[in-house]
Amino acid sequence: MDGKNCWCGRDAETKEGDCIFHASIDKKKPKDFWERFEIYFEETLEEYEEAETKAVILFDCSYFVFPPFGEWKFPKEIPFHIVFTNAVFYGDAEFAGIEFKGQALFVETQFHPCPEFLLIKMYTTMGTFEYPGFANFSGSLFSLKANFADSKFFCVADFRKGRFLAEVNFRGAEFHENADFKLRVFEGETNFNFAEFERGVYFNGSSFTKKVEFGKAVFKRETFFSGSEFRNKGVFAGTEFYDYIYLEQVVKEFERDADGNIVKVGGGSKKVKDGEACIDFVYNRFFDKAKVYTYKTSVRKWRFEGTYAIKDPGIFGFEETVWKTEGDKRKTVYEEELIGSEDITYERVGEIYRLLRLNFESRLAYEKASDFHVGQMEMLLLDSDVPLSKKVFLLAYRLISNYGESVLLPLFWLIYFAAIFACFWSYLGFYPEVGGPKCYDFYAAILHTMKTYFTLPSGDVPVTEFLMGIAQRLVGGTFITFAILALKRAFKR
Ligand SMILES: [Zn+2]
Repeated sequence: MDGKNCWCGRDAETKEGDCIFHASIDKKKPKDFWERFEIYFEETLEEYEEAETKAVILFDCSYFVFPPFGEWKFPKEIPFHIVFTNAVFYGDAEFAGIEFKGQALFVETQFHPCPEFLLIKMYTTMGTFEYPGFANFSGSLFSLKANFADSKFFCVADFRKGRFLAEVNFRGAEFHENADFKLRVFEGETNFNFAEFERGVYFNGSSFTKKVEFGKAVFKRETFFSGSEFRNKGVFAGTEFYDYIYLEQVVKEFERDADGNIVKVGGGSKKVKDGEACIDFVYNRFFDKAKVYTYKTSVRKWRFEGTYAIKDPGIFGFEETVWKTEGDKRKTVYEEELIGSEDITYERVGEIYRLLRLNFESRLAYEKASDFHVGQMEMLLLDSDVPLSKKVFLLAYRLISNYGESVLLPLFWLIYFAAIFACFWSYLGFYPEVGGPKCYDFYAAILHTMKTYFTLPSGDVPVTEFLMGIAQRLVGGTFITFAILALKRAFKR
């Protein structure tokens, strides 16, 4: 107007010296903005079609201030790279169903609700309500890298369905309203490290082909990964949870159609498939109402190191969780398979078993706790830092009663040794009666051994004395055994 230029080179159209694109939201007319925007887009398209090296063409909207999209719609396909770095969107930002063929840069982009003076009032039979708009990326397809690092969503971020075909970066992004990624397919490496989710987070039925990271991310409200598919590695490291996180029925495979919609669930919701993906659920922290819900989920490749809350049944309920069992003997954690690599030691795995044991013991589920108790003892036995004297004791403890967890094992030994003693006596001979002849009979030798085991009364007393003698010994022996067991439990906890 007065010959001044905006910093971008375009004519200044406000007193502040900004062009129509860079002027603040209250200094521009949406209609004018979109007319000029369309011209800019068409020019870029022409430039792209004529360019010899198409990869250098950029549609640069950095620091643009966008009014609500209203009538404007991007074409179904954007062939060139787009840059929305530090751009600010107000109200509806419509990117639904668009195919981004070039790189999409949304770094430090902000998505705001519609400001008061532009607010669209909706009139329905239900009454008037204000429609603040949302960032609509539903069904969009990103062919190349998509970067949303440090972007801020002050209105609902809708990324339902659609796909990211290459790597995607949401590092440090802030979601102040719901973040909806239901059924979205992430085919490249995915980064949500340091992201902050203030409201509900929905990854229901989403799929991650490569590694996905949520390191140091913060989840303030309910977070759903129900039926999500982790095919490679899911990293929740140092992540903070303030509410429920649903990692239920996380299964290996879905069959999808071309748009990424689930056609068939592999394994189904009834039968859990052993996920091949590793989930690192390590060094996580829990606050307020936090609870990890793993209903019908296989944790055979999960790592729990440093997540001390696994000892708390209020946080980790492990509802119908599927564990890996070592040779059908006991439940194990994935870390045990990784011993020797990545600084994982027997001692550290033993600590995980100890915490899991505490979890089940504190809700009196002793049978389940028993597996982890055995695991903890096994780790002690294998740990080279544990002194030999302790190991000898542990080994005996394992042999005799599987670390106090087996009832049948001591009974087996009782019978086994009865047979050994009987062999000894029937070979050497013994005197069943004082002054009587030597006896070499095996079965008599077994009876003789049993009498000694239980100090049974000798057979030559009257019937009443004999039977009462047995009863007295049984009562005495039983109560003493129970007292010793209780004493042992008292010291164990
Ligand atoms: Zn400008």
